[in-house]
Amino acid sequence: MKSPQSRTATQDRPPGASAGPQLSAAAAGPPEESPAAVASRAPERPLPSSVLTPPAPSPPPHLDDYQNIIGQAQVDALRFLARELKGKTLKMVNSTAVGGGVAEMLNRLVPLISELGVNAHWDVITGGNDFFEVTKAFHNALHGSPYEFTQNAKDIFLMYNEQNRARMQFDEDLVVIHDPQPLALVCARGKSPARWVWRCHIDLSHPHAQLWEFLRPFVEQYDAAIFSSQSFARQLPITQYLFYPSIDPLSEKNKDLDESVVQKVCDEFGIDRSRPIVTQVSRFDRLKDPVGVVQAYKLAKKYVDCQLVLAGGGASDDPEGAAVLQEVKETAGNDPDIIILDLPPWCAIEINAIQRASTLVIQKSLREGFGLTVTEALWKGKPTIAGAVGGIPNQIIHKLTGTLVHSVEGCAFQIRYLLTHPEFAKRIGANGHEHVKENFLITTNVKRWLLLFRVLSEAGPANK
Ligand code: UDP
Repeated sequence: MKSPQSRTATQDRPPGASAGPQLSAAAAGPPEESPAAVASRAPERPLPSSVLTPPAPSPPPHLDDYQNIIGQAQVDALRFLARELKGKTLKMVNSTAVGGGVAEMLNRLVPLISELGVNAHWDVITGGNDFFEVTKAFHNALHGSPYEFTQNAKDIFLMYNEQNRARMQFDEDLVVIHDPQPLALVCARGKSPARWVWRCHIDLSHPHAQLWEFLRPFVEQYDAAIFSSQSFARQLPITQYLFYPSIDPLSEKNKDLDESVVQKVCDEFGIDRSRPIVTQVSRFDRLKDPVGVVQAYKLAKKYVDCQLVLAGGGASDDPEGAAVLQEVKETAGNDPDIIILDLPPWCAIEINAIQRASTLVIQKSLREGFGLTVTEALWKGKPTIAGAVGGIPNQIIHKLTGTLVHSVEGCAFQIRYLLTHPEFAKRIGANGHEHVKENFLITTNVKRWLLLFRVLSEAGPANK
């Protein structure tokens, strides 16, 4: 085990920069810090060399590999549903190839759908920092944050959508556009018989009114919209579907790991497995409330011993990460039991190991589309505390498959309660695993896509 002093591996990078690691202190500290506080600060520590370069990609899974998890009948059902779709073409489009839940899902979904005989592709739109700043602001505003919507933001959004439209081909039978960033690509559909679907992963229950009025005419040009929770549905003249997101139980992020791998990762990051470990895995994003997690930990820590691991990183379409990471470091101060890991996006095994080593997992989001980190934690049987927002209550049934919280104090109370009631914690963790197995695995998601493709194909010519 590493000493608690050696736990400040971080990776600062400027907004929109690539994932090449640059190291810095975890706790910058306010300027008026005393010399004693500075001296006692945990030293800078480089990320372990094992995570500095991306590992070779693991071979994509095959359908038969899931048989042990979901059973032969379910695998056969997928093959049966796909028979009518053989040779048809499908394109998924989103705004980032790595980082965040959408990329995580597409990475596994597209190969599985292809294996079933559908010719499936995944394309990523391109844009400058100005585009991703605008779309990040859209993202926050659609989640209900205050926002001053300007003509300039509109122009930037439309210009990059137009650039991508001119660059890309859309010859497929089904085109699926994920989230608002590439929404306006639908202008490319023209008179083609292709079906176009908007897959919205974010919580649209309280969108910024003016922004939604700008985006809505684009949404209305699609054949259908898909949301991750009933509560996100809007008044729209097109059909709306509910698709739960999903995780892949065989991915590097979720597959079973040898105990030796879990131990090695904890040793490398200075996580002490002899004491309780409370973890939040999330991009450093204000809506994930990492600062609130640190505050809750500090409140709970007055009563129960524990370490806090904040494992995060950035997504290439999220320019705010560096500023939020700095706020987290300032709130954390010099506490040697707070371990902040700013990881490159390829650290799936490390995240898997950290989740498995955790005593509790937190996802204290203030707004959330669905929260795949919750799904991942539940799949690993971890007692999970999460904000009662977005799609999280679909996953966490309070006191049955986890616990829901509404405040820093509530989160602190649950940390303390679960750490001092391990039998209850174990039970909700086990229930959470079953809930994911029934509802949120990738194989269920594949089934929904196949059914939707069939429904849209059989509906006759597009009427747009
Ligand atoms: N994730 C990751 N590295 C990080 C932070 C998050 O690989 O540093 C993964 C996390 O394990 C999960 C996904 O990114 O699979 C985040 O999905 P979620 O739906 O929780 O949030 P989003 O980032 O899409 O808002």
